[in-house]
Amino acid sequence: MAKMRAVQVSRPGAPLEIVEREIPEPGAGFVRIKVQACGICHSDSVTKDGLFPGIQYPRVPGHEVIGIIDSLGPNVPRWKPGQRVGVGWNGGFCGYCDNCRRGDFFACQTSTEVTGISRDGGYAEYMLAPISALALVPDDLSSVGAAPLMCAGVTTFNCLRNSGARPGDLVAVVGIGGLGHLAVQFAAKMGCKTVAIARGKDEEPLARELGAHYHIDNKTQDPAAELQKLGGAKVILATVTSAEAMKAVLGGLGVHGVLMVIGAVPSLEVNALQMLLQNQSVTGWYSGTSIDSEDTLAFSAQSGVKSMNEVFPLDRVAEAYERMLSGNARFRVVLDIAQ
Ligand SMILES: [Zn+2]
Ligand SMILES: [Zn+2]
Repeated sequence: MAKMRAVQVSRPGAPLEIVEREIPEPGAGFVRIKVQACGICHSDSVTKDGLFPGIQYPRVPGHEVIGIIDSLGPNVPRWKPGQRVGVGWNGGFCGYCDNCRRGDFFACQTSTEVTGISRDGGYAEYMLAPISALALVPDDLSSVGAAPLMCAGVTTFNCLRNSGARPGDLVAVVGIGGLGHLAVQFAAKMGCKTVAIARGKDEEPLARELGAHYHIDNKTQDPAAELQKLGGAKVILATVTSAEAMKAVLGGLGVHGVLMVIGAVPSLEVNALQMLLQNQSVTGWYSGTSIDSEDTLAFSAQSGVKSMNEVFPLDRVAEAYERMLSGNARFRVVLDIAQ
């Protein structure tokens, strides 16, 4: 049997170890992908630390995968060997459960697969994926450049395009990190009046470079008051994992304003009186499924949105993972598997 290199976690909390494994064969409805690049996302800690009920070990993490289809299982329409594809967090859906029949594929009731968590992911030279999880990658994106768009990208792009914000509306992004640096670019390219809210005056040049029309320093300024001076935000996209930072911007919403939450916080206090007087809402947003990822990739290629990445070879995966965990990476960490 032909072998491949893969990075696995053997039990919750165990280190990332590089092992030799047999190259897997795709079953019905699956393709095999020769992986070229895989982003390292903070959610990979779910696999590393066993934070998801029922994970089977050993497990290969990675849900920001770009590679080339190199083998098809039985019953695979449309997809062909040689096509470059991406696989994200959503590990596929059934198409026949009630939620799928209503078009809510992300909430599929029978296939709750998550790439790199319930099935082996992209920290490997090869991986398997069901066809419902595949997104086609445009020619003019590099594989390393496209990888983070499969999670950080689709999450922010799909959230913004479903937020109700229209061109010309005031849209604020809280946090310019792995998610926020993409969200600011997407909001600006969508034609929104874009505000970047980040800690420190020294973040302003970066905010401007990403396309923000305004920068609010939430270390020294009151972000809610500053947003009200600009007319009140139609949408505030909270990418941070601080409930305090979210609470501090809520007062910056305008009439019918929406706070879109994609930063995972356990609880959030809101001013219900202000919300009901202004018809405001707070909503969470699930990342997206494969067609949302495909749209994200196409929009990024068309508009020039780019993830800023620090790139590591597979051999240095442990170092790359630590770099991601440190929070100091500017901004996403990507494994270049072809390197
Ligand atoms: Zn992710
Ligand atoms: Zn379903």
